[in-house]
Amino acid sequence: MGRRRRRRKIVVKVKKRIPEVFECPHCGRRTVKVDIERKGEVKAIVKCGSCGIHFETPVPSIFKPVDAYHKFVDAYYEGRIELPEVKGEVAEEIQEELKGELIKGSEEHKEEVSS
Ligand SMILES: [Zn+2]
Repeated sequence: MGRRRRRRKIVVKVKKRIPEVFECPHCGRRTVKVDIERKGEVKAIVKCGSCGIHFETPVPSIFKPVDAYHKFVDAYYEGRIELPEVKGEVAEEIQEELKGELIKGSEEHKEEVSS
């Protein structure tokens, strides 16, 4: 019985050894830093050191950087993040690559590791 749920699955590889640096969904580099700010309202500040993509969101106080990162990735794929200025064609190429991977990822499982 293969019960198939139709939900969007975004495959994110997170290595536990690298605590607060994650892979950027925009530029693909492992340069995303997550800060959890706990002044009054708790919020996560996610920023990529390579492409400069930036995302802030209120989060529950139990959130860890990795949780905020997942939220960031979701928001990114839903188009809720303002993209940093990148030179036109390059940016489009990256976007298309990402889309391709996203489709692949949702149709197959994450057994294949793309380089
Ligand atoms: Zn980036």
